[in-house]
Amino acid sequence: MKAYLRNRLLPIAVAQSLLLFALALAADVPLAAAVLAGTLIALGLAILAERLWPYRDDWHADRRELIDDASSAGVVLLAIDPLLKSTLPILAVALYPSAVTLASWPLFAEILVVSLLIELGKYLSHRAHHQFAPLWCLHAMHHSPEKLNAVNGFRVHPLNYLINGLAVLPPLYLGASPEAVFGYLALTQPVQMLQHANADLHNGFWNHVFSSNELHRWHHAADAHVGHANYGNALAIWDQVFGTWRGPGHVVDIGLFARSRAKYPARAGYWRQLLACGVCCARA
Ligand SMILES: [Zn+2]
Repeated sequence: MKAYLRNRLLPIAVAQSLLLFALALAADVPLAAAVLAGTLIALGLAILAERLWPYRDDWHADRRELIDDASSAGVVLLAIDPLLKSTLPILAVALYPSAVTLASWPLFAEILVVSLLIELGKYLSHRAHHQFAPLWCLHAMHHSPEKLNAVNGFRVHPLNYLINGLAVLPPLYLGASPEAVFGYLALTQPVQMLQHANADLHNGFWNHVFSSNELHRWHHAADAHVGHANYGNALAIWDQVFGTWRGPGHVVDIGLFARSRAKYPARAGYWRQLLACGVCCARA
């Protein structure tokens, strides 16, 4: 039973979130509340799995790391997220009026198209952040931890988060409904809550569908040769399309690539890293 749960925690986390979304839709309850509930349950499952089945005993976050990750989460969720939510729909309508209206499609098909489009935008943004020096200066913050756990998934530079958020513009331009965007979030947020989990999950088939923690460990490998893989935000499809999908394996060394270690204060606190990103970008 334990092995069954461990190996299916990812689809269970996604299923509960989609179920809450469907119930909220049927009962006319605010969809944002349903998505938030599904996300928090998935985060709880990730933290529980880290205690029950740790991948590495020395990868649990200490007090200082928790404070840094909470600071980062506070900045992106309380400042950048509201900014994106208030400006992107206005931008999409004002700048790019479109004749196409996805909202007239059946909701299931609309969620599918919206998910593929947003994930493509985030995949391309992620690759660009690895490829171009000024963007890597921002993204280095996310790769700075030398261990992976559920909370350090929130360690991301606010500008990196802002740029990734632009991925929602194409579906909005095509007239996607708010329900479809919430459906996308209900599908993908649980995957993200588990993506950095220090949990020895064996996701099997689901590694071909979702960008799981098994796959994402490769992405955080300190060896650049294996680290340039598995860029998927929550879905694994674009890694498979573009040939960057790498299957499960044992990753030993996590952190910044060797070439970046000398230039970036990987072990500094969140606020010092924010300043370092500014200096780094100015020089790039
Ligand atoms: Zn990355």
